[in-house]
Amino acid sequence: MFPSVIELAGAVRAGSTTAAGALEQHLARVDAREGEIHAFNLVTADAARRDAAAIDAAVARGEDPGPLAGVPVALKDNLCTRGVPTTCSSRILEGWKPPYDATVVERLRRAGAVVVGKTNLDEFAMGSSTENSAFGPTRNPLDTSRVPGGSSGGSAAAVAAGFAAASLGSDTGGSIRQPAALCGLVGVKPTYGLVSRLGLVAFASSLDQIGPFTHTVADAALVLEVIAGHDPLDSTSLPSPVPPVRRAVDEGVAGMRIGRVSDLPEGSEPDVLARLDEAFAALERAGATIVDVAMPSMQYGLTAYYLVAPAEASSNLARYDGVRYGLRVEAGDLNATYAATRAAGFGAEVKRRIMLGTYALSAGYYDAYYGKALKVRRLIADDFAAAYASCDAILTPTSPSVAFPFGDKTSDPLAMYLCDVFTIPTNLAGHAAMSVPFRTGAHGLPVGVQVLAPALGEVAMFRVAGELERAA
Ligand code: GLN
Repeated sequence: MFPSVIELAGAVRAGSTTAAGALEQHLARVDAREGEIHAFNLVTADAARRDAAAIDAAVARGEDPGPLAGVPVALKDNLCTRGVPTTCSSRILEGWKPPYDATVVERLRRAGAVVVGKTNLDEFAMGSSTENSAFGPTRNPLDTSRVPGGSSGGSAAAVAAGFAAASLGSDTGGSIRQPAALCGLVGVKPTYGLVSRLGLVAFASSLDQIGPFTHTVADAALVLEVIAGHDPLDSTSLPSPVPPVRRAVDEGVAGMRIGRVSDLPEGSEPDVLARLDEAFAALERAGATIVDVAMPSMQYGLTAYYLVAPAEASSNLARYDGVRYGLRVEAGDLNATYAATRAAGFGAEVKRRIMLGTYALSAGYYDAYYGKALKVRRLIADDFAAAYASCDAILTPTSPSVAFPFGDKTSDPLAMYLCDVFTIPTNLAGHAAMSVPFRTGAHGLPVGVQVLAPALGEVAMFRVAGELERAA
């Protein structure tokens, strides 16, 4: 097992380990396995060594570098890093260096974390396997013939392989929780607005959230407390206090009511459903009550998402025109240059989303598609509201299957989209959700159980997650 975030930071703050030493251990693992895994688009070893030395110097002066002192972290490559290429794993951002750090990056650094690199993703975070990266796929460290999940596959792989003790991803429809499940990690999608998105390259702005990957629930709680909290520079950031999730981890679930979805969409592997049953049984033994809840609109979540998310993406990605960012392919006139740049710069899945979204928003189809999707979104929120009248949290599988082999779903977009059938509804509602590793399924690969909670219900969510971890 790799040392936890809490152990590492504790040892660095106490002076019993150096940040430099901890970093070298992680970089040695990068040297040994990154060639086969491809978790990173860029390893920033030199900058990391300078940052680690600065942390050690601060400790030597008797200062406290913060709760993440000397912890090596990796960042999904759609998070802006000042002066360091940020590619979204797309050719269209070739050569672009952001002029500022994302708020989450700034907060990690201020807490003493050491950034080791930028991780691979499905281009613009569109995908569930990291096979849609323009720079080639990432491999699952637990079985390199299989995908790590996506779209934050590089961030998941970096932690699973011990290249970083924690990482950040973004989750629009499941992109933190699903790769966490497939790589045996904890992955958190916080309540919409809890974590600032300043400096996160936008995919679907009404859905996107940033969150951590870690090995343990307590580590996830610590990283979340560091990155969460109001940011006046993000107009969607909530002005509420950060839920005290760290102390929730060990509180237990006595007296809690946990929802079991009676009409869960079908199609999960039997092992995944068996682990879910075991998770409910474990919570019941720990003093929780299991209640049945109905989510009749959940089955329409995927359809609504594949109208709302592409619609927003088609608008957000209009800015990549060869003039303002990255790649520029010169053609006869300005319109031809736009077209040539976008034709050369975007991959197939991104083009598919732009066309779907443009179509759904076009005059004559707006009401039939986009408008109707918004109504379904409301029905899903209503389902959750009704469910949370009788329970504090809901358990579902995170992913219908364990990690699948490369190429399994690349020729069938619908099969790929179905990976997110359980994760997407929460994004549409804007609620809190996380995946906790819970034993193994087919081929001995990890299974994740998803814990859902209402908006700002992170304390209840982490109580359940902590209990599941102890039971697993
Ligand atoms: N897999 C989903 C998609 O392709 C979700 C991606 C995400 O959460 N960024 O859109």
